[in-house]
Parts: sequence; structure tokens; C-alpha cells
Amino acid sequence: MRLILLGPPGAGKGTQAVSIVKRYNIPHISTGDMFRKNIKEGTDLGKKAKEYMDKGLLVPDDLVVAIVKDRLTESDCQEGFLLDGFPRTVNQANALDTELKSLNYELSNVINIDVEKEELIERAVGRRVCKDCGATYHVKFNPPKKENICDVCGGELIQRKDDTVETVTKRIEVYLEQTQPLIDYYGKKGILINIDGKQDIDKVFEDIVVSLGRE
Ligand SMILES: [Zn+2]
Repeated sequence: MRLILLGPPGAGKGTQAVSIVKRYNIPHISTGDMFRKNIKEGTDLGKKAKEYMDKGLLVPDDLVVAIVKDRLTESDCQEGFLLDGFPRTVNQANALDTELKSLNYELSNVINIDVEKEELIERAVGRRVCKDCGATYHVKFNPPKKENICDVCGGELIQRKDDTVETVTKRIEVYLEQTQPLIDYYGKKGILINIDGKQDIDKVFEDIVVSLGRE
């Protein structure tokens, strides 16, 4: 099972990734984790990536692709993998196709967890975090027993600065705009699976499993 997982911020992608890799016994390949690992181990790729990140710049495509390729050649990827956070653009998707071909791998499916913009905004804007212990809540979906008070430690609940309507809307719009061409790209290849991410977590996962089984 060679998979790519796509989903906007707040769609529950992280939770589904954990369930998918467990169910299919495949490695979870997250570009964020790989960057951190390469930087920590001081590899050549890590050093190069760090130069860009230290300057607050985006790591260029060829470097991202090189790090992913490096990871895909490891033996635990022979039976499959779940790519998370990559590719982000059609350009990266093209580069990935080339690398997969050279490794004699073919993508099984691209899973897109679909949640409409309004729902994503509601989820993010209602998020509250305890300023003392970091426990997270949601005013509607997971409220504390006492308003604005942490159930765990009694601390005050606050809204993160980047969870305001304006920043959340911007974040989601940027994601959707960037990702749509990628969704079209895999849609044309006939390997895209759209999953309704508005359902509860267990049902979302069930739909993923059923969809993959049909292929
Ligand atoms: Zn707390």
C-alpha cells in the first residue's frame, strides 16, 4: 500500500495517519519529521535544509525531493508507505513520480480528507488551550466542565493568537488554493479517494479502509 495523505489544517489528518500506518503496517513518512531528523543527525541534506529554514525561507523542491527519495530507498518502504506533508505542489508531485519510477514503485492511492472551509474555521476558532498545562479543548466539540477553566489543573483557558478568524481563514484559503491543483493532478490519474472529513473520527477511518479495499 503506497499512499499519500492530503487534508487541510484542522481536518484531523494527524489522527488518521496514525490509524492508517497501524492498520496497514507501513511507515509514516512525514516531511516535517524527516527534516528534524536530518538536521539533528547533521546529514548533508539536513545541513542544507537548515540554511534555508534559519533564514525563514521555504526549503526548495529539489532538496525536499532528495530527502524524501533518501527515505523511500530504506528497506522498510518496500512493502509500502504513507507520505504525509508531501507533495505540496504539482511540481513536487512530478518529481515524486520520477523518483518512484526509478525505484519501481507505483502509488496505490491518494487520500484526500475533505472538510469544507466553514467547518474548518469553526473547528479552529473554537479551540482553547490551558495556559498552565497545555490541555486542549473546544468550546463546542470538547468544552471544559467549567467555562474557561481547565478540567485537569484549574488553569485559565486561552485562545492562541493564530486561531483568530482572520488568521485561520487565511491559513485555510492558502492551503486550499495550493492543494487544489494537486487534487486535480491525482484525480486525473484516477487514484484519488475523497473522504468526508466532517464525520466523526472512527467513521472517517472506516471510510478510508473501505475505499482502499475496493481498489
Ligand atoms: Zn491545565
